[in-house]
Amino acid sequence: MNSGTLRAAVAKPGHIHDNLTDLIGNTPLLELHNYARNRNLFGRIVAKIEFFNPAGSIKDRAAWAIIVEAEAAGRLKRGDLIVDVTSGNTGIGLAAVAASRGYRAKFYVSDNISQDKVKLLRLYGAEVVTVNNAFFLDPEAIDKITQRIREENPAAFFADQLANPANPRTHFETTGPEIWRDTAGSVDILVGGVGTGGTTAGAGRFLKSKKPGLKVVIAEPGEGSIPTEDNPYPDEIDGVHKVSEVPPEQLPKNVDTGIADEIIALSTAQARRTALELVAEEGIFAGTSSGAVLWAATQLAARAENAGKVIVAILPDTGERYLGSTWWPLETAPGVRGAGAAR
Ligand code: PMP
Repeated sequence: MNSGTLRAAVAKPGHIHDNLTDLIGNTPLLELHNYARNRNLFGRIVAKIEFFNPAGSIKDRAAWAIIVEAEAAGRLKRGDLIVDVTSGNTGIGLAAVAASRGYRAKFYVSDNISQDKVKLLRLYGAEVVTVNNAFFLDPEAIDKITQRIREENPAAFFADQLANPANPRTHFETTGPEIWRDTAGSVDILVGGVGTGGTTAGAGRFLKSKKPGLKVVIAEPGEGSIPTEDNPYPDEIDGVHKVSEVPPEQLPKNVDTGIADEIIALSTAQARRTALELVAEEGIFAGTSSGAVLWAATQLAARAENAGKVIVAILPDTGERYLGSTWWPLETAPGVRGAGAAR
């Protein structure tokens, strides 16, 4: 598939669209003026709000690219089963595209992901197989789950979001160019999280090709927010994981280990608090990985060296996807205490 095909298919104004997939991409940028003013930040934080995608997350892009490419290669026909391992969002994206194009879907998920996502997966028509979270502590977890999925579903199309090159490629061909176009080339720093690594590898590589001095910064879960032998069920930031100090062979193939200029670690509590501050101050309710990305962007914007710099923070999904999670102590939310835009 060439880049023309991908770019032509993202949502365009002034049309009656014909396919669900035509609605993917072209998500808006919003500068967080209240948020920056309330903290006297030096840098400008611009959020790319990915919950505008039709199935509610950035992963609709990868889901679409993987399916369209498989169709073009003759590897998918109506009624076929699509399988993958997912922290939820890719599965929801794949299931939505599958529903609109006549495929079935089945996903393997860790038993610690948000129950809202599990409900959504089922609601979109997917079968859900839960895997013990402790399993993912195995350094060979990716190989083992991949092998299990292939063995249990020999006739299925394995989307393989962790290694499928269509995943980073769609960010190289859509997410990156959209940021470049919508900031008129003024973007200086890109901040994202890493699940499969597709977003930062693809969008990061595109933007660096346009502006060699551009920095890519990764927000990663820190101490207490990642599973360990002693605590395989910590309070995690859904959808992203630690990348520093992890041997490259244990990371998903789609992670570009060389792309990051800096990695900023934070706790799940910091990610959630930042998500709550964002909704209180800007009226944008994004998920926990968005809170993590915004927290990292805030650290960067607070540095005098970044005065006037344009920091694009990718917000992968909506907070509504985590409404049922225990992270929601509404009585302590910043907005409830009246710490909103007028602070
Ligand atoms: N945030 C959330 C909520 C996600 O579901 C994902 C993907 N698992 C990411 C961030 C990271 O995106 P990527 O897979 O492109 O690295």
